[in-house]
Amino acid sequence: MTTDPAAELEHGLAQALAPGADPDAVLEGLCRAARGAACVEGDPPRALTPPADDGSLGARMARHAAALVARGGTLAGAADDALVLALYLGEAAALRAAPEGDPGIDPAGVRELARRWRDYPARILEGLPERPGALRNPRRNLQVMVTRRCQLRCSYCPVVKGEADTPAAVLDAAADLLLTGAAPGLRLDFSGGEPLLRTDEVLRVAERFRAGAEERGKAASFYLVTNGFGLTPDVARQLAGLGCRVELSLDGDEATHNRHKRPVDPAENPYHRTRAAIEAASTEGLPHTVVMVATPDTVASLPASFAHALQVGVRSVDINYAIGREWDPPALAAFTGALERIAADHADALRSGELVLGNLSSKVEPAVLNAEWMVDTDGSLHLMTEWALESSRPADGEELGFGPLAAVAAWDDLFAGRFHAYHTLLRAYSWRDGALRRVLHNNIGAGRSVARHLAASRGAP
Ligand code: SF4
Repeated sequence: MTTDPAAELEHGLAQALAPGADPDAVLEGLCRAARGAACVEGDPPRALTPPADDGSLGARMARHAAALVARGGTLAGAADDALVLALYLGEAAALRAAPEGDPGIDPAGVRELARRWRDYPARILEGLPERPGALRNPRRNLQVMVTRRCQLRCSYCPVVKGEADTPAAVLDAAADLLLTGAAPGLRLDFSGGEPLLRTDEVLRVAERFRAGAEERGKAASFYLVTNGFGLTPDVARQLAGLGCRVELSLDGDEATHNRHKRPVDPAENPYHRTRAAIEAASTEGLPHTVVMVATPDTVASLPASFAHALQVGVRSVDINYAIGREWDPPALAAFTGALERIAADHADALRSGELVLGNLSSKVEPAVLNAEWMVDTDGSLHLMTEWALESSRPADGEELGFGPLAAVAAWDDLFAGRFHAYHTLLRAYSWRDGALRRVLHNNIGAGRSVARHLAASRGAP
């Protein structure tokens, strides 16, 4: 880099936004600008002049990046988002050329572009003596898959089940890695499978993490995703004492809930288990969020299901469209219409905070591009997106992930964005299997559509 970060920033922007720039030039410019911006103290938000839309991929990427920065995004984020757009447009072109999803074709040439820019964070860091704060891992949470065992086989669940439990040493190493993060507040997340099949181990690791955070003067918090089977009042009390929030699944009334939630033991009733868990959480003061999953065949009952959740006392809800299956336009319209209606019907409660709809406040779309970090039962580090379609993974899927957890020295050195999540999914699924290529593109399109509708509900521009 030149010795003058401000000049690097200006030159990078000029290169990225130059009329007629090709995708490589746009990305090179954005990385240069991001490098400069990371070293300029208090770089003010800027109004950028995007090139005219000449229909080329480079112009569309540059315009997209400029719009993102105008909304307050960072230049590194703009590079990431420009790559996501390139992949999305490239996949759309491939599916127009071969609607059945021939995995081999790439009419826009984005496969090679993604390969060249896969390590764009390293390009941003090139020549810098140390990683600037702006380019440290933006994540404050790490999810550990406590076990692959589960009492349910939900039809929309993508996680491959098995008998594997994560060894205590891996759980400890995950907690210790997160504690190296510089942020003042860090959150350890527990998932599975069903983490409360190992409640004692969850509590042990949580205590260890809390003590480690205290030693470092940090605030520790916890998030635990559970099917509720093991959430007794006693466990709820202990989790509440730790400052944990739990995520429970409630898809609607008994018939709707049990439709896709098949118990391994046929004598079990998943709906009754969830209701008992909600009761335990409420009684013991354990903060909880209910996730409601809609599928194309249950979406019509979404407003009634939401009303049912309120009726049983739930006050924090995330509504998900099931990933891994195609949403046709009427089903998607029913989903976005239901979300808008719920937001309008409960506007006062949502405004006052009496009711929380995560879709409006915290959920990031497209949901399938989840770039949070996760540790698998074997101690390997991954982006959570890898689990989105795991049970459909083609047999010849290439080895994914970011290697063993033990090889990462510091939490803040990890840096991956939605582009990496997308590229991972394409390599693992779309570029190997035509049907999955259609499904993934459909799910990303669904997420873009949901994001647009939610922005309209929030009154965003
Ligand atoms: S309870 Fe959770 S982990 Fe178990 S099958 Fe259902 S979605 Fe998957």
